[in-house]
Amino acid sequence: MHVKAIFREVEKLLEQASVPSPRRTAVWILCEIIRCSPIHLISREDDRLGRNQVIRIREAAQRCAAHEPVQYVLGYAEFRGLHLRVSPDVLIPRPETEQMIEIALDAVGPDGTLEVLDIGTGSGCIALSMKHALPASQVTACDISAPALQIARNNAKKNGLDVRFIMADLMSCDFVHTVGTGYNLVIANPPYIPDSERSQLPRMVRNYEPGIALFCGDDPLEFYRVIADKLGSGLLRQGGTLVLETHVDYADSVGTLLQQKKDVLQVQIEPDLAGLSRFVIANYSGENHPVRGRTQTTAT
Ligand code: GLN
Repeated sequence: MHVKAIFREVEKLLEQASVPSPRRTAVWILCEIIRCSPIHLISREDDRLGRNQVIRIREAAQRCAAHEPVQYVLGYAEFRGLHLRVSPDVLIPRPETEQMIEIALDAVGPDGTLEVLDIGTGSGCIALSMKHALPASQVTACDISAPALQIARNNAKKNGLDVRFIMADLMSCDFVHTVGTGYNLVIANPPYIPDSERSQLPRMVRNYEPGIALFCGDDPLEFYRVIADKLGSGLLRQGGTLVLETHVDYADSVGTLLQQKKDVLQVQIEPDLAGLSRFVIANYSGENHPVRGRTQTTAT
């Protein structure tokens, strides 16, 4: 069978199954299995494929047609140029989170020697991107999930990035003791989807991605409140920065709860690429270290 024919077959199957972006998914599957880059696929369209390759392509296509995310089917995702292994033990890194890295880098400015903590690292995408962007920094990543930490550790190794991984439960009273204090930057993308929204999620997310990384029960502010409370235990050093990804409906509430904290001097809300309030940046006791860069909304 030729590349062109199997490509058409896969694209049609995905289209009929109403998989979002059927063409892009078909390209991804083929490129992975015949080992070529998307720009070279067209020049390979008359190549004849081996029987095994055809079987593997069809198997992958069937799984995607059942709305399993292509990243789980092929076992990896790309995030800010990093090749990351993913499995259903970790969330598939999202473009919003790539944007949060830019916001965090902007907020901390050019000082490259920071101590950074990523809470709830999952695949390690945030921690590894920070280490990649700021190689002289010390990056610590924690998660409650042992299988997620295993994946994140492997991703660090495969990408040659030296990050410290710690198993820690944000909700436990010894969290700060476990992860340490005095960070310059704390960054997190905690679970923020209320259980009541579960049924509205695409089935690709609902049926395959880890609930522990997505759902926050019935209090959408709980994780943020706990992070804000831990600031008082020395998690951030003076002048440190907190950068959080939030549900679009709750960015303002997260901003407000941080503003109410004694030593939080400045809070900004930033929109995502769709223009929806998505990120909250807070500066901790930072009279001499104002939040840098963006100033869209500022309240103290
Ligand atoms: N942005 C993710 C989603 O839509 C949710 C991530 C999270 O809960 N932290 O599906």
